[in-house]
Amino acid sequence: MTPNRRTLLHAGVGVTATLASAALAGQPSGPRDSQSPGPLLANDAESRAAAAQDFGHIVDRRPRAVCKPATSGEVADIMRWAKDQGLKVAARGQGHATYGRAMAEDGIVMDLGMLATIHRVEPDRVVVDAGATWHKVVDATLAKGLVPPVLTNYLELSVGGTLAVGGIGGSSSRHGLQTDQVLELDVVTGEGVELTCSPTSHPELFDAVRAGLAQCAIIVRATLRLMRAPERVRRFQLSYPDLASLTADQRRVLEEARCDQLQGAVVPDGTGGWRYQMEAGVFYDGKMPDDGALLAGLADKRETVSDLTFGEDANAFAKLEKILRANGQWLNPHPWLLTYLPGSNVLKIARDVIAELNSDDLGPFGRITYYPMFTDRCRTPLLRLPDERVVFPFNLIRIPASADRANAERLVMRNRELYERIRSAGGVLYPVSALPMSSSDWTDHFGVRWSLLCEAKGRHDPGSHLTPGYELF
Ligand SMILES: Cc1cc2nc3c(=O)[nH]c(=O)nc-3n(C[C@H](O)[C@H](O)[C@H](O)COP(=O)(O)OP(=O)(O)OC[C@H]3O[C@@H](n4cnc5c(N)ncnc54)[C@H](O)[C@@H]3O)c2cc1C
Repeated sequence: MTPNRRTLLHAGVGVTATLASAALAGQPSGPRDSQSPGPLLANDAESRAAAAQDFGHIVDRRPRAVCKPATSGEVADIMRWAKDQGLKVAARGQGHATYGRAMAEDGIVMDLGMLATIHRVEPDRVVVDAGATWHKVVDATLAKGLVPPVLTNYLELSVGGTLAVGGIGGSSSRHGLQTDQVLELDVVTGEGVELTCSPTSHPELFDAVRAGLAQCAIIVRATLRLMRAPERVRRFQLSYPDLASLTADQRRVLEEARCDQLQGAVVPDGTGGWRYQMEAGVFYDGKMPDDGALLAGLADKRETVSDLTFGEDANAFAKLEKILRANGQWLNPHPWLLTYLPGSNVLKIARDVIAELNSDDLGPFGRITYYPMFTDRCRTPLLRLPDERVVFPFNLIRIPASADRANAERLVMRNRELYERIRSAGGVLYPVSALPMSSSDWTDHFGVRWSLLCEAKGRHDPGSHLTPGYELF
């Protein structure tokens, strides 16, 4: 092992120990491959407890050890060794999953926080390590006047973490998901093999990794499409008296391509009712756009308009994070339910669900994300959507005011009931949700794409070592 690598690994949390020296009773022993220098594992209580939690704060699954690889080769060494030992492995990016999806009970959690280099920014692409946050990616690309076409609303998520699920944001109505912007991926399969995949090289693996819930491989590096960054964003928040008028105007704005970013939400109004909001962003350089062009003919008469640099706009969620960290709610349980509703009956389903919710079910800072998008922009095979031209993300972003575990468990069960209802009405889950799922639920979820995932799993992780947290296999 090079001194540099040793130093990096020792910089991790808590006590580290070589695999060989960690041969406590029942603990893993060192890799047999003499070519591999032997990864270091942190098996102290503090490291294991940290990896047994996520943003959801609902499930607690303690790994046997945590490792912090700093190179693709180390990821492969650890993967091969864990496979030989018969251990499960979960990659962890920023730990913002809500239901234990980055956990591996009695297995190995591979924290990719040290694999976070931005390698190159070129005029049409950026090459980044998968443990980098989107914040870091945006900082590097904006410095060259470029930006990924789709950003999540929160930028402190890792590139690998969002590519494993999809990655949706304000400009998805224009560009699809983050998984649609990927040009190439370097991965380590469940067999511990390092491969590069793209639409032309191992295309079946490329399709199984993007939004594939980390079942076949760990992403170590990604080449992502870039576009020119606008200088500024003109941001509109429009208010509506009810869901029907919000929906009608959102559809109009979408169909007429009036904005670059389109989202919206149903928000508790603090008195037991709801506020209905459209959120739209128009990009511009130099001359300010004509507000009238966005607003013409819309029902809203109480718009709020703000004008921000692209960077300020992309980081807007940081303000809410600061508030929630200050009031303690960032660390409360977060039993989120995220789904896509079919456009054809969206009003009925959304109205029925909202009628049964009370503001305590969401919390004072919670919201229901709600907006339309075109499905033809989404080309990732494993990203499942209702089979319609227009669908609506419909996300219960629950931020309870208390840390009450019983309440969180009640809301998880409620998520399950709502999921079944939404599914039977043609809706589809966005798998970042907090609810129990069975293998047959996943078969149903992936539908005609299930065989794509199963075949890739059989080829690249036949021992089913990767990512037990989704309980797919
Ligand atoms: C405050 C907040 C805001 C959010 N906003 C959005 C949003 O706007 N749009 C959106 O789409 N989602 C959003 N999400 C959901 C988020 O995209 C997912 O939960 C994402 O998986 C979290 O990324 P992470 O780096 O924290 O991953 P983790 O929680 O660490 O891991 C999540 C899953 O990804 C896998 N994984 C992590 N890294 C890799 C890798 N390198 N290779 C393969 N698999 C890997 C893990 O094994 C696990 O299964 C939000 C979540 C939070 C908490």
